[in-house]
Amino acid sequence: MQTAKQILMVAGLLASTTFASAQNNLATKEKYQDPDWRKKNYIINRDSAYANPYYALQKLRWGNQRFTEGRSIHPRQDREVINELSKGQKPFATIVGCSDSRVSAEILFDQCFGDLFVTRTAGQVMAQASYGTIEYASAVLNTKLIVVLGHTYCGAVDAAIKLPENPPGHVVTLINRIKPATMGYFGQGNHRLNYAVRQNVINQVKELRELEPLLSRMYYKGEILIVGGVYDLETGKVEFLPETLVDLPATKFSNRDMMGK
Ligand SMILES: [Zn+2]
Repeated sequence: MQTAKQILMVAGLLASTTFASAQNNLATKEKYQDPDWRKKNYIINRDSAYANPYYALQKLRWGNQRFTEGRSIHPRQDREVINELSKGQKPFATIVGCSDSRVSAEILFDQCFGDLFVTRTAGQVMAQASYGTIEYASAVLNTKLIVVLGHTYCGAVDAAIKLPENPPGHVVTLINRIKPATMGYFGQGNHRLNYAVRQNVINQVKELRELEPLLSRMYYKGEILIVGGVYDLETGKVEFLPETLVDLPATKFSNRDMMGK
C-alpha cells in the first residue's frame, strides 16, 4: 500500500513531466518557425506542398534526404497535432507502396500523422479497392501528388521472375500483374530483379495515368501529378525515376526548381 508521501512524490513527478513536455512543445514550435533551422533541415511548407504537387514532391525528396543523412526530425507526432487532425486531414501525397516491412513511407520520407495517404500491397499491385482508395485521396481529400514507390530486392517481383504462371492461392494475382515487368531483360540475379522492380513501377505509373474515369482525366488536365520512385534498401535513398518525370502534361502549377537533380 502506498503511503501519502509516495503518492505526493508521484503527483509531483507527473506535474513536472507535464510541465517539461509543455516546454518541449513550445521549444519545438519555435524551432519549426525559425527560418535558419528550416533551411538547414530542408523544410518545405506543408500548405504549399498540399497546394502544389511539385512542392509536395520536393518535400518528399528533402524528407528522404534528412532520413538518409540520419537527421530525421520525426515531425507532427505531438498531442496538439493529433488533436488538430481529429477535425480533418489534408495529406499532401498519396503513396502506393509495397507491404514489405522495411519500406514504411512515413519513416523513409520523415513525415508523420496527416501527411501521407498510403496504400500498400505486395509489389504495390493494384486492384479495384486500391484504385478506389487512391481516387478518394485525389477527388475527395484533394491530394495532388501520387507516388508509386517500389523498392530494391522486392520479394513479390522476385517471385514473379521465379515462379510459374499459376502458383497456388491468391498469390497468382500478384504474380500475373507483375509478370510483364520481368520480360525484356535477360540478365541474371539481382540485376534482373532490380531492372524488373523499376519496370514494374513505370508500368504502374502508366496504369494510374490511364485509369478511368477519374485519375486519367485529372492527370491529363494537369490537376494531379503521378510519378514513380524506387527505395534502395541498402542506402535508404529514394530515386524518383526520370522516366516518370518527363513529358508531363501542362499544369497551372509552377514546377520551377522543383524537379531536383
Ligand atoms: Zn516488395
